[in-house]
Amino acid sequence: MKRDVTVHPLASPWGRFSLYSFFIDAPEAAIVDTGIASSPAEGMAPALASLGRSIEDVRWILLTHGHIDHVGGAHALWELTGRRAQLVIHAADAPLLRSRQAHVDEYACGRGRYLGDPDGAASQAKAAQTIISGEVEPTLLLHGGERLPLGGGVTVCAHSIPGHTAGSVAYVIDGQNDAFVGDAVQVHGAANGFPGYVDPDAYRSSLRYLRDEVRPRHLYLGHPYRTAAGTPYGLRLDRKQAAAALTESLDVEARVRDAAEQAVLAGLTENDSPYSPFDSAAAALGYTGDPRLEPSPFFTTLHGYRARLTRQL
Ligand SMILES: [Zn+2]
Repeated sequence: MKRDVTVHPLASPWGRFSLYSFFIDAPEAAIVDTGIASSPAEGMAPALASLGRSIEDVRWILLTHGHIDHVGGAHALWELTGRRAQLVIHAADAPLLRSRQAHVDEYACGRGRYLGDPDGAASQAKAAQTIISGEVEPTLLLHGGERLPLGGGVTVCAHSIPGHTAGSVAYVIDGQNDAFVGDAVQVHGAANGFPGYVDPDAYRSSLRYLRDEVRPRHLYLGHPYRTAAGTPYGLRLDRKQAAAALTESLDVEARVRDAAEQAVLAGLTENDSPYSPFDSAAAALGYTGDPRLEPSPFFTTLHGYRARLTRQL
């Protein structure tokens, strides 16, 4: 019987957040997600050295999606591998790897519309400049369904799981069903206490697909997402915890959907509430977190429901 491939978590702190990356110790070693610009040199290199491995051994850089705290270190890590690693991302999120400006545009088209911050776009541009180590062209573009060879018969399947972003991907180690999903499973959200996704219908379908079809033996999350009690999940969820987190994420999505639909159908009006124009949805959900704290999942998500309902009406 073939021995399981070992997975080592690599965590790096960033402000209120904890960024998780993962080292897949295959013959052609892989790192899932890259943190921010400083993460590869300051977090990953020493962590790999303590495992007796070198960052130069890494042959695959697998990005779960294009957000700044996942692709920020990609260029730096790729350079540390002598540009020998494959740099892998879904086609729909590839613009976020190629271009810092794409992050500013995404902000302006979504949550930025509600934050009313005249300096918002400039702050985003500054953050992209410092947090992203470099603009880089991916070496392999995914569309979902690809099987990546990590040597010695180890393969990883890339599943398209849009919702959190259009190009979110689950990387699943074949045969042992370890699934790396980045931010595609939000439960109650991370530090902001609210789940973030741009496309509610896709988010719901992807959660169902993960729970009912992929059925992970281990689920690796991109941040310490929280339970209903506010307790953060650990780095690795076992099969039972994974199924529970997926069901809980679906329940939370259903509650947010109800509140969003009622608010939109009642008519959205601008007002002085920090949750404006979705203040009635925040009240219905009992959400008292600060909706302006970046990355503002409250506005990203509510805007997604609003756009979907507006298309339908
Ligand atoms: Zn994200």
